[in-house]
Amino acid sequence: VVHGKEIPWNLFTPKAPYQGKVIENDVHPQTLTEDTGDANWETTHVTFDHGGNVPYIEGQSIGVIAPGPDKKGEKPARIRLYSIASSAVGDNQNSKTVSLCVKRVVEVDGTHANREVGEDKPDKAGTAFPDNKVYRGVCSNHICDMSPGDDVMITGPTGAEMLLPEDPEANIIMLATGTGIAPMRAYCRLLFHDDAGASDGGRKFKGLAWLFMGVPYSKSLLYDDEHQDYKKNYPSQFKYDYAVSREQKNAAGQKMYIQTKMAEYADELWELMQDEKTHVYMCGLKGMESGMAECFGPIAEKAGKDWAEFAKAMKKADRYHVEVY
Ligand code: FAD
Repeated sequence: VVHGKEIPWNLFTPKAPYQGKVIENDVHPQTLTEDTGDANWETTHVTFDHGGNVPYIEGQSIGVIAPGPDKKGEKPARIRLYSIASSAVGDNQNSKTVSLCVKRVVEVDGTHANREVGEDKPDKAGTAFPDNKVYRGVCSNHICDMSPGDDVMITGPTGAEMLLPEDPEANIIMLATGTGIAPMRAYCRLLFHDDAGASDGGRKFKGLAWLFMGVPYSKSLLYDDEHQDYKKNYPSQFKYDYAVSREQKNAAGQKMYIQTKMAEYADELWELMQDEKTHVYMCGLKGMESGMAECFGPIAEKAGKDWAEFAKAMKKADRYHVEVY
């Protein structure tokens, strides 16, 4: 029970997982990104059928159990958590599917290797490094290589940190790096796409949703088509800015990280955060929080406040939600 509301919680455990099936997804067939030349360029959108047995709400995660072997040889592998990228009703709105946004972990000639030279075979996206020692992430490669009809072992759902406020007039500031976009996609589907988020002649959501997304290359942008649609269809309610760190620079010539992009709107964002109806959601790379301090430290000081204290107070008021990994 979270804030008086009962939510689905660990209906399936590592010892008794749910066996779902991978299904075709015509919204976003498999790979979302394009080859950038980096070994780990691929991020995939994958959809599982759970037959209505794994209900979840926007902002929760599920676990996936790969057959393994895991780092220490365990079979099956230990569970890995993934933020759910679909809204509660699922991508096809029949409440029987769950989608994930998964980055394929591939490390070439790094500290760890589970493929010796000559052993790495082309993955589903065609990437292979036969001339190198390679570490392929156990679960992310299992998921990224899946095809419709394959079985998948699911645990959960779990997570109460990233749930949306009940108030339809809340403002939602979303900060996502890479696959941190997953919960934000779930929110946006509910707020701007699904029948579940519609009311007579409009949407139930009456606030402002502002998405900042950070990626290394424009070829790594995730769900850009959906975001552009929301922006076009709900210009007064959906704002969308992205930072492409290896391609864009700010006016001072600095690399464009998510906090660099936010700094361009620091006054407006600071103002918005003073409103008790405003919630901040942050998801993705560890270290994002320090970017927030970099962005809002100076402006908070100007207003006679301390950013760390301000953020702490927002957290206490359940208006500042962080899930980084
Ligand atoms: P692993 O096989 O676990 O490898 C991970 C790292 O371990 C590699 O960098 C490797 O070099 C290193 N390693 C290998 N062997 C050793 C060793 N012997 N000792 C030490 N280190 C070693 N990911 C997503 O893509 N999308 C999401 O939406 C998402 N959501 C998440 C939500 C939460 C709440 C959390 C906690 C994590 C989330 N993740 C998400 C991350 C995900 O859970 C996995 O960690 C990720 O997919 C990598 O798992 P893997 O099995 O592929 O890699």
